[in-house]
Amino acid sequence: RHLSSAEIRNRFLAHFEARGHTVVPSASLLLDDPNLLFVNAGMVPFKPYFLGQETPPFQRATSVQKCVRTLDIEEVGKTTRHGTFFQMNGNFSFGDYFKEGAIQFAWELITNAQADGGFGFDPDKIWVTVLPEDAEARDAWKRIAGLPDDRIQPRGLKDNYWNMGVPGPGGPCSEIYIDRGPEFGPDGGPEADEDRFLEIWNLVFMQEELSAVRAKDDFDIAGPLPSKNIDTGMGLERVAYLLQDKHNMYEIDTIFPVIEKAMELSGKKYGASGADAHVDDVRFRVVADHVRSSLMLIGDGVTPGNEGRGYVLRRLLRRAVRNMRLLGYQDPALPELLPVSRDKMGESYPELVSGWDRIAQIAFAEEEAFRKTLQAGTQIFDLAAGDVKRSGATTIAGDKAFALHDTYGFPIDLTLEMAAEAGLSVDEPGFRQLMAEQRERAKADARAKKGHHADTGVYRDILDAHGPTEWLAYETLETESK
Ligand code: ATP
Ligand code: MG
Ligand code: MG
Ligand code: MG
Repeated sequence: RHLSSAEIRNRFLAHFEARGHTVVPSASLLLDDPNLLFVNAGMVPFKPYFLGQETPPFQRATSVQKCVRTLDIEEVGKTTRHGTFFQMNGNFSFGDYFKEGAIQFAWELITNAQADGGFGFDPDKIWVTVLPEDAEARDAWKRIAGLPDDRIQPRGLKDNYWNMGVPGPGGPCSEIYIDRGPEFGPDGGPEADEDRFLEIWNLVFMQEELSAVRAKDDFDIAGPLPSKNIDTGMGLERVAYLLQDKHNMYEIDTIFPVIEKAMELSGKKYGASGADAHVDDVRFRVVADHVRSSLMLIGDGVTPGNEGRGYVLRRLLRRAVRNMRLLGYQDPALPELLPVSRDKMGESYPELVSGWDRIAQIAFAEEEAFRKTLQAGTQIFDLAAGDVKRSGATTIAGDKAFALHDTYGFPIDLTLEMAAEAGLSVDEPGFRQLMAEQRERAKADARAKKGHHADTGVYRDILDAHGPTEWLAYETLETESK
């Protein structure tokens, strides 16, 4: 039987509640953490407990946490499993149970029959990974789950040491994968193919504090945490895609209705055959994903802007609109698409329904502004692209990209995307140089006017952590290591 997203969520929480966990509601995506733009994992709201900065009111907790990962934006629609917004089911132990308990609880939930409240996955299709030196976890998987050695795959730090991507708690982890079958790729476990073998759950043995994180597998350990903890994260949408017999997370009950609406509007068919079908399918998925993320971000209080969180939202909204145009739909799209997403997500997040007027106003106004930008700038872009092509070159000059930005409000990633679609590249260093010069001029002006340093205000933290935030959404693409 297919389980709906709501059922998966409820079963998860009930499973852990029955095992002594306190059910904690999702925190906002905008928790105050100087290092993070958005909550990107279920453990973030519990960070002070892990670090020993606060005493938890419970030793065991469970939640379904809203998450946004801008790092994954380029993967959306291309892999089967990455959304910019997703929900992470989690169970947490603060100095209570450790590896054995976590493995026991996880194994029961995924393999118990659906009639008994479990997810009913076939134990023979389950693979797990552990750090090569983590004999304790390996032994626990053998004893508790009876997994054969060849389905307990050793993987290095990049996959089997979890950290927040920024300083904070971390630890070795053990991931759970489901084999989707030979039609989806070669045999050989998750190490061989992460499309056929789908990662659904990560059990983190949270035991260290990290003082610096340069990459997933390159970090400094400051020392042990005050206690040994458990932090797990299961992707709700990934489990839904398996249990609803779909091929990717964009086809599940809470997301696909947006694709259906986009089909109706564009007159194109998702999943069609033909030369451009794949390209169009990615566009449909990007639309559905970005519409949902935008909805959730505005719901939590983000408004479009040129920096930090606001810029991420702006980029998501604009990409959704642009992809609808690429699918052939020219009219305002968000008034059609956003309500469909609200109807689905509103079941779990009633604040989307009660706050709808505000959300709609913000989103629709941004689309209107973007339509004006496109109207003004597209012609200029096309002229520039035409000139480049006629001259036999392939690169749009930095000053052209700068003019598009400065005069027509074209963000650089829009110029980059449109250039790529036209088979051209952009002289980005040249563009950046001009931007830096402009910034310097503005600073000097401000100093001259006010007689003191220009105030970068509330975005100071974000700037410190990520550099000039105008680049944030784009630069994160470049640092993604996969
Ligand atoms: P992947 O390797 O597939 O990118 P991850 O190892 O980065 O996933 P974790 O940080 O371990 O993911 O997060 C815990 C769980 O959250 C994952 O096992 C997965 O089920 C889910 N998850 C992670 N990123 C996404 C995403 N972008 N969209 C949907 N679910 C996700
Ligand atoms: Mg990832
Ligand atoms: Mg992974
Ligand atoms: Mg993982």
